[in-house]
Amino acid sequence: MSREAELHVRLLRNTPEPERAVATAARLCYSPAGVEEIDQRMDDAQVEKLVGKLVDLGHESPFEHASFTFGVEGVSRALTHQLVRHRIASYSQQSQRYVDASGDNGFRYIVPPSVRDDAQAYKRFTWVMERLADTYGRLGADVPREDARYVLPNAAETKIVITMNARELWHFLQVRCCERAQWEIRAMATEMLRILMGRFPLLFAHAGPGCVRGPCTEGTMTCGKAKEVKERFARMCEDAAPGDE
Ligand SMILES: Cc1cc2nc3c(=O)[nH]c(=O)nc-3n(C[C@H](O)[C@H](O)[C@H](O)COP(=O)(O)OP(=O)(O)OC[C@H]3O[C@@H](n4cnc5c(N)ncnc54)[C@H](O)[C@@H]3O)c2cc1C
Repeated sequence: MSREAELHVRLLRNTPEPERAVATAARLCYSPAGVEEIDQRMDDAQVEKLVGKLVDLGHESPFEHASFTFGVEGVSRALTHQLVRHRIASYSQQSQRYVDASGDNGFRYIVPPSVRDDAQAYKRFTWVMERLADTYGRLGADVPREDARYVLPNAAETKIVITMNARELWHFLQVRCCERAQWEIRAMATEMLRILMGRFPLLFAHAGPGCVRGPCTEGTMTCGKAKEVKERFARMCEDAAPGDE
C-alpha cells in the first residue's frame, strides 16, 4: 500500500440555512420587528438581496452567525502548522501522542509536486521517509509514542476538523487562495472554496483572493497574474454545481 497521502476535503456540517441566519442578523439591526418575525417573514428573494448588499458594502459582522465545519485528510503537518495560525476558528487534530503513526507499513506522508516531478529529488525524499519510518517504528518499541514522534517530518500526514464562521472564511480564503500562499494550503483552501461556492453561492461566490474583487491586495509582493487568477476563480464559480463536493 502506498504511503503517499492525497488531499481530501469534505464539508461535514454547517449552520442550517446559513444565508438566512446572516440576513436575519443583519435585518434585526435596522428593524423594529422581533427576531422570530424577521426570520420567518423574509422570503428567499429578500434574503438574497440583503446578503448581496452586505457583500457589496463589506458589512462583515452578520457573517459570523453562519459556521462551517470541514473534515480534512491527506495534508501535512507543514500545512496544519500554517492553518492553526488562523485564530478565529476551532480545530481538532489527530494526535501524534495517542495515535500510532506507523499504520500498516509506516507513517503516511505528503510529497510536494516539485519533489515528485524531479526523479532524483523524489528518490532522496522517499529514501529519507523509509529511514524515518523505520526509526519511528523501532523507537516506538522502547519509548513512549509522544517521544518517538520527534523523528516524524513536516511531511507526515495528518487529519484535522476545522470550524470557521463565514467572516473568518472570507479572510482565510483571501490570504490562502492567493498565489502568495504555499501550494499545499492553497490547494486545500481552494477546494474548500469550490465546495462553498457550489453549496452557498450567495455567501461565497465572491470570496477568494483579493484580486477576484478588484486590484491585487498584495502590493509589491503581487504575483503579477491577477487577470489570470481572477478568470480562474470566475470559471471555478461557474463550474461549481449546486451541492458539489
Ligand atoms: C503568504 C503568507 C505568508 C506568511 N508568512 C509568515 C511568516 O513568514 N512568519 C509567520 O510567523 N507567519 C507568516 N504568515 C502567517 C500570518 O502572519 C498570520 O499569522 C496568519 O495568516 C493568520 O492570519 P491573521 O492573523 O490575519 O488572521 P486570523 O488569526 O485568521 O484572524 C482574522 C482577523 O481577526 C483579527 N484578529 C485576530 N486576532 C487578533 C488579535 N489578537 N488582535 C487584533 N486583531 C486580531 C485580525 O483582523 C485578523 O486578520 C504568513 C501568512 C501568509 C498568508
